[in-house]
Amino acid sequence: MSKSVALHTLGCKLNFSETSTLGRLLEDDGFVKKDFNEVADVYVINTCSVTENADKECRQLVRRIQRKAPEAMVVITGCYAQLKPKEIANIPGVDLVLGAAEKFNITQHLKEITKGDSTKICSCDIEDVNVFTASHSINDRTRTFLKVQDGCNYNCSFCTIPMARGKSRSDSIENVIANVKSIAAGGGKEIVLTGINLGDFISAQSLLPKENGDNKLATDDKANFYSLIKELDKIDGIERFRISSIEPNLLTNEIIEFVSNSKRFMPHFHIPLQSGSNKILGLMRRRYKKELYTERVALIKTMMPHCCIGVDVIVGSPGETEADFKETVDFLTNLDISYLHVFTYSERANTTALDIKPVVPINIRHDRNKILRNLSYQKMQYFTTQHIGQTRKVLFEKHEANGMMEGYTDNYIKITAPHNADWVNTITEWKI
Ligand code: SF4
Repeated sequence: MSKSVALHTLGCKLNFSETSTLGRLLEDDGFVKKDFNEVADVYVINTCSVTENADKECRQLVRRIQRKAPEAMVVITGCYAQLKPKEIANIPGVDLVLGAAEKFNITQHLKEITKGDSTKICSCDIEDVNVFTASHSINDRTRTFLKVQDGCNYNCSFCTIPMARGKSRSDSIENVIANVKSIAAGGGKEIVLTGINLGDFISAQSLLPKENGDNKLATDDKANFYSLIKELDKIDGIERFRISSIEPNLLTNEIIEFVSNSKRFMPHFHIPLQSGSNKILGLMRRRYKKELYTERVALIKTMMPHCCIGVDVIVGSPGETEADFKETVDFLTNLDISYLHVFTYSERANTTALDIKPVVPINIRHDRNKILRNLSYQKMQYFTTQHIGQTRKVLFEKHEANGMMEGYTDNYIKITAPHNADWVNTITEWKI
């Protein structure tokens, strides 16, 4: 009889796309996929290092599994597994811990362990991780998150991602094109290009054998993110592409100009800002100043007045005084953006931000978060109401709840409408 597997993701869209790929690898190996709430033979948890309580969440999930299926095999992978493999191995009930390099060898590792063995840790130094594994998620076939880049060479003082995911590396343009064509052939309509530092995409040329037998990515310095989107724009079948998140210093004028003229790349950018104070940006070791951010937003809005712009901001990072925070609030208030993703700073082991003083008290961090979430709500309301009466193209998704369905306009305005099966996975002209 076939074995069953249930998978669960903690964290970002990139993790979701990787969990989908792990699921497909296991299905190809004969496993039957089950819902995480059901009883299964194997459970896989793909963890995140950004989640404040990664440890707690992971423990809780493992405890739930133990109550439900004490005989099941439990595998923990993802960023947290790379950063703290021993801590995870000590969680009672965990059988296998897979670090960044071993994640996609899951089927092989499962064959080599038996329930009751001592916990196996398969992890290596993150410096040695240099293989890229493409992955994509499929949500109702409508919107697919396609990973084209992984890792990051930046060293923002608050961030553990480079330690969990390793150096920046990318797929080859040829491979991305092949994946996009296959997603289109499967009925996908919209692809969201994802990566850890997406704008740092440099096409891998091929996999070259290294002296010690491992594979190494050779890169083509000339084929960057701009080259990638120009090629993807030519592919028939996919009606929409979105760029998930791109650093302001890597969002070049030519990319903005290209998107403004493209029929397939949607007028929607998500650009991390993190702070509106140059002093804090410096302490964070971000690679731009707020003036550059202002220029980017101004150019986008000149070329695409209807463009949706989302912004990531961190509140309460070390050194952020009341005056610095006010500078951020004023900066964002005056900026023509559409919504914010607000993160509350939390301490991460082994980051240089831990040395920055003064530390902002937790209650003040939460107060600042609230202020920016309110601002985000106002920005979103303003952006949406500007479009009332306009007709825009909406891609409706399959999910139905209480007789309603949801979809997004080209410029990312969420539309809720009475469910109509004929509209699912189609682009519909919609008066807002
Ligand atoms: S750009 Fe900075 S915040 Fe983003 S993953 Fe790299 S180090 Fe982390």
